[in-house]
Amino acid sequence: MFMQLAKIYKQTEFDLEYEKFKKIYPDAAKFLDESDLLDRWTRAYSPRSRYNIMTTNDVGSINVRLREERKLPIIALLNSLQTLTTSWFSRYRNASVASITNFTPTVESILCERFNIGRGYQVYELGHLEFDVRSATNSDLVDLESKRCTCREFDIDKIPCSHAIAASYFCDVNFYSLCFEYYYVMIWYLAYSEPIYHVLNQNEWPLDDMLVLPHVIKRRRGRKKQNRFPSVGEFGRRYD
Ligand SMILES: [Zn+2]
Repeated sequence: MFMQLAKIYKQTEFDLEYEKFKKIYPDAAKFLDESDLLDRWTRAYSPRSRYNIMTTNDVGSINVRLREERKLPIIALLNSLQTLTTSWFSRYRNASVASITNFTPTVESILCERFNIGRGYQVYELGHLEFDVRSATNSDLVDLESKRCTCREFDIDKIPCSHAIAASYFCDVNFYSLCFEYYYVMIWYLAYSEPIYHVLNQNEWPLDDMLVLPHVIKRRRGRKKQNRFPSVGEFGRRYD
């Protein structure tokens, strides 16, 4: 329920659902109220346009993959990281090259889903590229020129919401043209296009003009404690 709350777009809808949450989980709600960090964990009150990935799964995945490697010396650790990230980069670069659509597969499937939802809406033209889009239970205002909708999905995700798609269909605008350029396959490709190189063999390092001394480390007494790397997002750090 907490994760569902975090993903809500509209503040009015969030407030309503949060009241229900308070009744079911009063202790958790008390903790959240006292921490006063609504802008950090909710999409509805975030001052920025949060991307739709709201987990730290990737960081957790790296933690697991590097469980053994992180005990290695720094160069070996860096090379392990390079091997891991290079394999991921190759996978997504190859997927982007093989793609036959204009937008990434995730965005294509979101658009398809929203298009199907939008087919059930009634659309009323209000002004130049402004529309009132009504479903059985709601009414939302869409402005195709400024790429905004009162549901806030269009504003935040930068992908047309079902209302915007219904409005664009109504006025014969290609809804693909309303998607932000970040989601083009070409941009996806560029994100993974740069190679990450292996650290050179030590005898090939260009050290002619450089003297690198080891860092002075004060060793504590007793057995060395092994902690996992803290994930981004823990300890109150921002994910965005
Ligand atoms: Zn909308």
